[in-house]
Amino acid sequence: MMAIKIPPEHPRAESLRIREKLVEHHHNGVVATAGLIAHGRGEAFDYMLGEKTTKQALNAINAAAATLLTAEKAVVSVNGNTAALIGEEIVRLANVTKAKIEVNLFYRSLERELKIKELLEKVGAHEVLGVGEDASAKIPELGSERRRVDPRGILVADVVLVPLEDGDRTEALVKMGKKVLAIDLNPLSRTSQKATVTIIDNVVRATPKLVEIVGKLEQDLKKCNEILLNFDNKKNLAESITLIKGRLSKLAEKGNYLTLEDEKHDL
Ligand code: ATP
Repeated sequence: MMAIKIPPEHPRAESLRIREKLVEHHHNGVVATAGLIAHGRGEAFDYMLGEKTTKQALNAINAAAATLLTAEKAVVSVNGNTAALIGEEIVRLANVTKAKIEVNLFYRSLERELKIKELLEKVGAHEVLGVGEDASAKIPELGSERRRVDPRGILVADVVLVPLEDGDRTEALVKMGKKVLAIDLNPLSRTSQKATVTIIDNVVRATPKLVEIVGKLEQDLKKCNEILLNFDNKKNLAESITLIKGRLSKLAEKGNYLTLEDEKHDL
């Protein structure tokens, strides 16, 4: 496959580079076809958010970092899209938070699980749970293949980070008493609405930021507890929706301008 050359001055250069990465990993079997469509749904919301990490996202990233650092048994759940886009950051995050990494796919196939495991190991993962027969336990109340989990990982975890999750599974994990940390560009998805901490941001921007903040909070348990005490997920989520609404209203007033004047200096 020939990679497309993306001109650096293209206004959507970064977004196109991300797409190319997903297409490449779709060809090599890591990303499912439906994963490409799911990415498109995310992109549409990223457009509306202004393709940047908002203040609300940062609040949620802080709360997610504090939750991971105060967890007993944290697990990062990985699918094809996340392995393709943020494999290295996932390994880094797992290392700094002592979380386990578990593969969990909606379109489960041993071939894809092994490909994801291989990709993660290539970027430094020592252990990847949930592959093949290792996913021998089941999440109650779930019909899809995503109910299969590793008894050493998600099944016994108290905190699960689920970038790009489906709503049913988020709800099922919450019902099992787990804290679910979601990264999802769509504030209206069931995942976003049901998670314990919802980061409305692109995984590509949010995950390195999460690693950075974990590094800063690592030694400060008092600060972690303070962050958690002051964080209200519902309120933060509502503010993200209000932000989109306000941004769209301003853009509508301006007509065909792509960038808002008061955002220019933020870029
Ligand atoms: P739900 O089942 O939670 O209501 P859904 O049906 O949209 O949501 P999926 O089809 O699994 O769930 O879609 C994946 C979700 O991931 C979408 O909500 C989309 O906004 C989000 N998404 C896709 N790509 C990214 C990305 N790069 N960063 C963050 N979120 C993303």
